[in-house]
Amino acid sequence: MVKGSDLKVDKKKCIACGACVASYEELFKFDEDGKSEPIADGECEDCEIADVLEICPQNAISKKS
Ligand code: SF4
Repeated sequence: MVKGSDLKVDKKKCIACGACVASYEELFKFDEDGKSEPIADGECEDCEIADVLEICPQNAISKKS
């Protein structure tokens, strides 16, 4: 289980490629600039955090500490 509230996106690194939104539509949406942001109340029952972090070619997704 991965929750959107566990995730953050570094918008300086995000190139708006859309990979995270395409693969994990429960967890990410585009903001008004076309960059990704976590959906605060989003959840993915069958997701693994490592897979979610790996989807980003820019390493822009991280886990909130
Ligand atoms: S995969 Fe990474 S670079 Fe692409 S939209 Fe998501 S956060 Fe941005």
